Amino acid sequence: MTILLGCIADDFTGATDLASFLVKSGMRTVQLIGIPTDPVDLSEADAVVIALKSRTLPQEEAIQQSVAALEWLKQYDCEQYYFKYCSTFDSTEEGNIGPVTDALLDNLNEEFTVLCPALPVNGRTVYKGHLFVNDALLNESGMQNHPLTPMKDANLLRVMKSQSQGEVGLVAHEVVTAGSYNIKTALEKVSAHCRYAVLDTLSNHDLIEIGAACADIKLLTGGSGLSIGLAQNFQNKGLFKISSSSGKLSSVMGDAVVLSGSCSLMTQAQVACFKKNSPAKRISPIALFNKTESMDSFIQWFEENKNQGPVMFYATDSTENIKMIQKELGVDKASEIVEEFMAHLVVVLSSVGVTKFVVAGGETSGAVVQALQPQLLKIGESIAPGVPLTEIPGDNPKLLALKSGNFGDETFFEKALRMMQ
Ligand code: ADP
Repeated sequence: MTILLGCIADDFTGATDLASFLVKSGMRTVQLIGIPTDPVDLSEADAVVIALKSRTLPQEEAIQQSVAALEWLKQYDCEQYYFKYCSTFDSTEEGNIGPVTDALLDNLNEEFTVLCPALPVNGRTVYKGHLFVNDALLNESGMQNHPLTPMKDANLLRVMKSQSQGEVGLVAHEVVTAGSYNIKTALEKVSAHCRYAVLDTLSNHDLIEIGAACADIKLLTGGSGLSIGLAQNFQNKGLFKISSSSGKLSSVMGDAVVLSGSCSLMTQAQVACFKKNSPAKRISPIALFNKTESMDSFIQWFEENKNQGPVMFYATDSTENIKMIQKELGVDKASEIVEEFMAHLVVVLSSVGVTKFVVAGGETSGAVVQALQPQLLKIGESIAPGVPLTEIPGDNPKLLALKSGNFGDETFFEKALRMMQ
């Protein structure tokens, strides 16, 4: 069995983002949580995205995990491989984008790849080799203060050179606007003396032309945007047919709940909106810590209210209240209590017939996914940009919507639940 596109993403939400783009472009896509240890059924997948958590790992570990993911993908003899990183090229001075790219090229016996982080719909563009976030250079966009991967230089040629083994060339915007044939010719020229080419990219149209020019490059590297033209390449080669139902998931019976552990302003608005018409129960970290509330009382409440549901459980609170809670319990302890409780709650709710979970919060989603232990997620249609509906397939399938902080509008929960019906 062949997979057309084998992808390695350096974090979970980045993987979902890429998978969502692939589904939209007409490829049936599966996301794997790490490298599977047991056999997985990929018979209905055109593309596979392995989600690692390697962005800020020590370099050696990031390389080891990424190469292991590539080795795993190679059993499917992928037509093309894709290393997905953040559209703001998030990396430390040592890497990991450069060293991982080098290791993947070496493993594939390839000499050349492209670097294309641009995602113009989200304001990430590249011009004269410099990465912009909306109107600001990357190093003036706030990213220079990122706690883990501060980006202090917007010049991608310099950034890549400093953390990799080879020379970096540029395909300038005049060439990119001249279309795929000219881009391909320019890439061939750059590859004669460079190991990597940065491509200027200002629009979705540019991304499609770049994608077409990259049809025969074995390893691609970039943000999620570079993927948008690839399905067409595979179709042009007669390898598959673009499908309008690539995001079709199973229809799932059973109850649905909303679990909100994010305290972002958008999530606060979403919680307030949902509470107007549906039963909702607050999760108080202090009550859980003091053991004045227990799992039993939550499940009892669920049984009493589920007929007026779907219901919501939320730890979401105002910034002021969070500060008070954190003062009392400590920042880490407060988070730990909420995340552990959410993880436990999702398992207990599953055991009483809940099969659909709308989850708010990046870390909260991580805790929930870890508790459910899916081997793979089938990626469905987008609920909001960057947030697809997903399915844990199997004899008892489940549907999940995993949203981090500020994603979606006020009615996101209602929309996600409607799409799960
Ligand atoms: P976001 O995507 O908005 O950043 P996360 O789930 O990643 O959301 O992070 C929110 C963090 O805040 C989690 O660790 C969660 O456990 C914690 N949290 C949620 N509610 C509360 C609360 N009421 N008090 C203290 N911490 C909370």
